[in-house]
Amino acid sequence: MALADIEIFGAGIFGLSIAYSCARRGCKVRVVEKRQIGAGASGGILGALAPHAPHNWNAKKQFQFDSLIMASDWWAEVTEIGGIDPVYQRMGRFQPIANAHALALAKQRQAAARKNWDKKAEWQIIEADGDWMPQSMTGHAIFDNLSASIRPVPALQGLSAAIRSLGGEICEGQTEGEGADILIHATGHEGLQRLRSTLGADIWQGEKGTAALLQCPHTGPQQIFAEGIHMVPHSDQTLAIGSTSERLHSPANNQALDIDDLIDRAKEIVPAIKAAKRLHCWTGIRPRTSRRLPLLGPFPKRPGHFIANGGYKIGFGLAPLVGEVLADLVLTGHCRIPHEFLPSSTIDRMVTD
Ligand SMILES: Cc1cc2nc3c(=O)[nH]c(=O)nc-3n(C[C@H](O)[C@H](O)[C@H](O)COP(=O)(O)OP(=O)(O)OC[C@H]3O[C@@H](n4cnc5c(N)ncnc54)[C@H](O)[C@@H]3O)c2cc1C
Repeated sequence: MALADIEIFGAGIFGLSIAYSCARRGCKVRVVEKRQIGAGASGGILGALAPHAPHNWNAKKQFQFDSLIMASDWWAEVTEIGGIDPVYQRMGRFQPIANAHALALAKQRQAAARKNWDKKAEWQIIEADGDWMPQSMTGHAIFDNLSASIRPVPALQGLSAAIRSLGGEICEGQTEGEGADILIHATGHEGLQRLRSTLGADIWQGEKGTAALLQCPHTGPQQIFAEGIHMVPHSDQTLAIGSTSERLHSPANNQALDIDDLIDRAKEIVPAIKAAKRLHCWTGIRPRTSRRLPLLGPFPKRPGHFIANGGYKIGFGLAPLVGEVLADLVLTGHCRIPHEFLPSSTIDRMVTD
């Protein structure tokens, strides 16, 4: 087998996005996957591409925002090259406003969005109205027109098809590559676990997450985020739901919610989905670093090796820009990665914290 220019370990959303961005620039790439494409956190069913709140602006929010803004064109090109549609849709999102405090905060965030979102997208307080609107105690909700969705499995299939049509290889069921000058480790929560022993820093905190897919004939077009629950309508009359936290508690008895409770709670929040039927559930482990920041850049003390990890809850939203900044770094040496995402910065901070 011929040597690749770049070998990437892990065929999740990070590894495949980087492989695609490098192949798109004419590199010969090989992806080496221990199991099969999408075997890790990326093989799920939710696919929310949703922004963080636009206040308390920081490098992570800016990076995520830039990635969400470029996502439409980036995925359109993946679709054109690979011929598989990941069903990207920029449908916006409703978030009910629960009380006077949340309303005051929403007003601050609306003002912050005007400044930080640079007129590229909107975050607005609106009247909470209509069948698809979640119940709102204040009669108001937030609508943002930046939130989008994608189908995770077709997205991975589409990237894989695009990589292959650009001459790249994807080798499944392997952990050993054939050799390349540049090696990128995009191995999800297992990779973070291994880094803990390699680098002597406690950077790994994988976090379990569960989502459910419901058959749901009556959905609206927008995504909903309410009481920590994401609801993402897909175009085939299904609705994906998932929580932001495994520690979500029932307001009634303060017990942890399981997936059936979560579905029941979602039905209370949005009565329009009362008749929805559960199709299946999916559980994965989010690659969470202890500082909840992505870990992107040169592998400390290993020349020619790079890390792309720490996508945590927003790996699909970050993926287009992760692909492009890693391609910039490994192919041109130009670093557009925020300083706090660099492995060297993370590890230095942990040692001095
Ligand atoms: C329930 C749930 C819901 C989520 N919802 C969303 C959402 O709506 N929107 C969003 O943006 N994000 C979401 N996320 C987060 C997102 O799924 C992750 O951030 C993302 O999938 C991480 O991608 P990754 O490529 O870094 O890791 P993974 O997808 O875990 O990929 C790592 C790959 O590396 C392989 N591997 C491991 N070790 C080796 C080795 N030694 N050699 C070769 N290969 C190896 C693994 O088999 C795996 O395929 C969700 C996560 C969960 C669990």
